[in-house]
Amino acid sequence: MRRRAEEREDDIKDSLQALFQHRSIHGKGDYYMLLKLKQMVVEYGEKIVKEGLVVATWGNLSAREEDEEIFVITPSGMNYHILEPEDIAAVDFAGKPIGTGRKPSVETPMHAAIYRARPDVKAIIHTHSINASACAAARVEIPCIMEDMASMVGGPVKVAEYAPTGTEQLAGNVLAALGDRNAVLLANHGVVTVGRCLEEAFKLSMMVEKTAEIFIKSRILGQPFSLSGEETCYLKDFYRRCYGQNMEK
Ligand code: 13P
Ligand code: ZN
Repeated sequence: MRRRAEEREDDIKDSLQALFQHRSIHGKGDYYMLLKLKQMVVEYGEKIVKEGLVVATWGNLSAREEDEEIFVITPSGMNYHILEPEDIAAVDFAGKPIGTGRKPSVETPMHAAIYRARPDVKAIIHTHSINASACAAARVEIPCIMEDMASMVGGPVKVAEYAPTGTEQLAGNVLAALGDRNAVLLANHGVVTVGRCLEEAFKLSMMVEKTAEIFIKSRILGQPFSLSGEETCYLKDFYRRCYGQNMEK
């Protein structure tokens, strides 16, 4: 059962105390920024379960501090339904936990490697969603067959070479296959999406899953057509500049 708000606030204060010792944590602003990020990680953890993108404790998600080389990430092997903000671990860009608290996800090296290589990425979601995982099991990339997916991913969802879960080798393979796009499949494992915020990474998780399902179904009908590189570039640019309410016009 969820604990009372005041008790949780005290626990959060205690667990974040250690962060003040960290060179990057300067004051109240940072404290509340990390607390907000932790709360959002809890919120989006619930969303990925609700949408059926993960089962039980699998998958993980993280969000990074805007100006500092710190991110917060789900703890390893804990049920999303019982997570509280104080269960979310804070980690530096080397993948080292800051302060005490829950043991972070086994995929922390992969999240850290992505944040180090892609300054545009502020949130990462790793799921084992069914249709994307079917493509990952067959080691078949998801081609750029739908406009919405092309605009958000920026190209096909490639398959990272197989490496065991939680290894630096997996982190390297994921980076290589991700490139400058926003989603990647992990051979015989699952899928990773990256975004400018958790909302965007979450939208991408659902988008990639939906496109994987369309891809598999369209192969029953025939050979699906892929959008060209030029068409994909146009859509990606259109999404960034013109789509939605808050984008640059
Ligand atoms: P964690 O529970 O340690 O995040 O591991 C789940 C997972 O999906 C590993 O790839
Ligand atoms: Zn996994």
